[in-house]
Amino acid sequence: LKQSSNPEICKPLVDAVIQKAVEFRQKFGRKPAFMEVCGSHTMALARTGVKQSLKDYVQLISGPGCPVCVTDQRSIDAMIALAEGDNRIICTFGDMMRVPGSNRTLLDSKIAGKDIRVLYSPVDAVKVAKDNPDKEVIFLGVGFETTIPILTLMVGEAEKLRLDNFSIWMTTKLVEPVLRYLLEAGEVQLDGFLLPGHVSIVLGEDAYQYLVTEYNISGVITGFEPAELLSGIYKLIDLAINGQASILNNHPAVVRKAGNQVIHQWLEKYLTECDEAWRGMGVIPRSGLDLKPEYDKYNAKKRFTVEVGEPKKTKCRCGEVIRGLISPNECPLFGKACHPMNPIGPCMVSAEGSCAAYYQYMRES
Ligand code: SF4
Repeated sequence: LKQSSNPEICKPLVDAVIQKAVEFRQKFGRKPAFMEVCGSHTMALARTGVKQSLKDYVQLISGPGCPVCVTDQRSIDAMIALAEGDNRIICTFGDMMRVPGSNRTLLDSKIAGKDIRVLYSPVDAVKVAKDNPDKEVIFLGVGFETTIPILTLMVGEAEKLRLDNFSIWMTTKLVEPVLRYLLEAGEVQLDGFLLPGHVSIVLGEDAYQYLVTEYNISGVITGFEPAELLSGIYKLIDLAINGQASILNNHPAVVRKAGNQVIHQWLEKYLTECDEAWRGMGVIPRSGLDLKPEYDKYNAKKRFTVEVGEPKKTKCRCGEVIRGLISPNECPLFGKACHPMNPIGPCMVSAEGSCAAYYQYMRES
């Protein structure tokens, strides 16, 4: 992997991608356009300068793969309201702390005295519950297929320890339904998808075949180092030029054809599909996973009632950024009213957010 960041390897790859993109433009009269599905890809493409190096030749569009960013405002408000209850310890990933709710953030609630803890390993929430039997410990389960298996592990641990005071507020999202949503909406012209290496470890290469068979569009699974990203983009352009839709695995050391079967078994044991609300897209049927009814005692949505009103309207355009309709710097608030010290929307807060990536690495002034 060290080698794949080596400029001596990456520079010729950049040149090769540009040459391929020129070939594409000669054939189709426009730049090739690809969506990087995952927020970690967006951040890696910006941090490593790949996006900037290719900007005149390849359109790289950020997609809906940042879990905090795609969580709809009502869910954010509900999680903040949940933290207001007495005798509770809320455990969460750090990214969630500064996401603006309609009235406040989790960080505001923590400063006001609520017990809200940022965990580096989510499984530690089970230990927090074990050590605090007189408190309700709730983990905010926000995530895609990379995080969801950890949530099932946590439930397994809580079962083993016979904990009665541990639960998860499930707000999970799945990649396939949102890609189908975007393709069916047809709002953005795309020539292919850069598919996330880590999610694909769970899902497997075969899980993306619907892109080819139902939508005639390619996907290349890649890792997060510059050489991997560049070779993934090269392969996508090549497929587009040849008019061959295909799924290629550019991350074969860790991504298998059928994914990780052990994880699939955990998911089947604990979880069932559910409808989920996405920022900017509304409710997408069967686009998330919830705990099966037999695990209701670990399901915070079944244990606690939280009432929230209509979310406050703002001028944040995260919903359009997530759908690939605008790039962050097209939002009038970008870098002015909205910046990392004063984020107006989640895309400026999250370590995987497009607006944060643009602000950190691609700001023009
Ligand atoms: Fe929202 Fe700020 Fe991004 Fe604009 S720049 S879309 S306000 S997060």
